[in-house]
Amino acid sequence: MKVLIAGGGIGGLTAALFFQKAGIEVRVFEKVPEIRHLGVGITLLPHAVKTLDMIGLMEPLDALGIRTDRMLFRTRQGQDVWDAPRGLAAGYDVPQITAHRADIHQVLLDAVADRLPEDALTLDAAFEAVEQTDSGVVATFRRSDGSTIEATGDVLIGADGIHSGVRRALNPDEGAPRWSGLMLWRGSTDWPRVLDGHTIINSGPISRKFIFYPIGPGKTPDTQLMNWACVVRQAEPGAPTPGQESWDREAKAEVLHPILKDFTVPETDIRALVDATPVFWDFPMCDRDPLTTWTKGRVTLLGDAAHPMYPFGANGSAQAILDAEAIARHCAGLSDDPAGALAAYQDERLDKVNQVVAGNRTGGPERVIDEVERLAADLPGQRFEDIEDVLPMADRDAIVNGYSRLAGFAADQLR
Ligand SMILES: Cc1cc2nc3c(=O)[nH]c(=O)nc-3n(C[C@H](O)[C@H](O)[C@H](O)COP(=O)(O)OP(=O)(O)OC[C@H]3O[C@@H](n4cnc5c(N)ncnc54)[C@H](O)[C@@H]3O)c2cc1C
Repeated sequence: MKVLIAGGGIGGLTAALFFQKAGIEVRVFEKVPEIRHLGVGITLLPHAVKTLDMIGLMEPLDALGIRTDRMLFRTRQGQDVWDAPRGLAAGYDVPQITAHRADIHQVLLDAVADRLPEDALTLDAAFEAVEQTDSGVVATFRRSDGSTIEATGDVLIGADGIHSGVRRALNPDEGAPRWSGLMLWRGSTDWPRVLDGHTIINSGPISRKFIFYPIGPGKTPDTQLMNWACVVRQAEPGAPTPGQESWDREAKAEVLHPILKDFTVPETDIRALVDATPVFWDFPMCDRDPLTTWTKGRVTLLGDAAHPMYPFGANGSAQAILDAEAIARHCAGLSDDPAGALAAYQDERLDKVNQVVAGNRTGGPERVIDEVERLAADLPGQRFEDIEDVLPMADRDAIVNGYSRLAGFAADQLR
């Protein structure tokens, strides 16, 4: 079997490495002419780390990122809603890792360069069209100078992100991504270690949230590369998007100053953290309504192309990585029936991931903060004496650990 992949992001490159491991020929076509160091922090949850370990990448990722040992969910007033260990500290046999997206991407690029033939990854090749015949696919990619590349294979996988051209080819009437009405600002900067240096602090409901966590070593022994994100509701879900969703649109700190006053974060000065960040970006948080099918014959979708999701719950990269392993496994098992392999991949993954997309629309595990703030809204200063009187542990556990199960990373699902 010969596999063509449109898109050399986290999902596309991970898939290429799983195909290579299965002995299947693969070629990846990536739109950008040059890979740039874009993006900020990404969380690799234990199911993603365990999957990446199958292609020998846990060690390099563990070496460059930060192990998350603890997760704190809090109200805007600084009161704890959930305080629990994560990763190895929570009894998993692999760590949970936070790292810069560009560093994770580089680990994948290096592995592709080491393990696959030189022509396996073609840059400056934007997917344009695909034709299916009885015996295969012919895909056309366009270079920035206007010339085209034609590639033939047995299957085509669209791993080309939230603005997927392959998805558009399969669903020409779908239209643009759907804006949640939430604006997301994200940045990272060198910053003094907070608490044990392995904690994620996530304050506020989905309509007004500030989250920060370290994603790498700092410039001095006392500092770390600190990633932060701020979310604010600006419109109702489905409102027209304020500009294109792009990962490199720069934003200004002044916009955030009035918003940051709403948060009590005892451990650090979050306004100073934002002000110290030389460049940061805004991003209208978007997803798409779930599809009922990703696969048409010999063409399918993977990662954000198949199921873009809000980042609540930190599952965007994880679900792309899980897709990558699954599709290579089905193609190896059904190498004489490429269309059957893509159908089997969809059968395994589509319903599960669509449930994660739906869960993230209400905040994923972080919905527990929304619930507590709602229930505490009439208390003086919205402050409570005892969280148990507001929302008992069993209910909080059902939200947080219920989400882990839905997304496939509850501890017993990974044994
Ligand atoms: C530059 C960049 C920065 C990002 N930064 C963050 C971040 O800071 N935080 C976060 O949570 N998520 C970020 N993401 C998204 C995150 O990587 C994904 O949500 C997740 O990893 C799923 O991966 P994916 O491979 O499905 O999609 P992506 O990682 O988005 O990869 C899609 C790839 O397809 C390429 N592509 C697009 N159109 C075409 C086409 N027509 N033909 C061929 N190739 C095409 C893109 O250039 C990209 O390399 C970023 C994505 C990109 C591309």
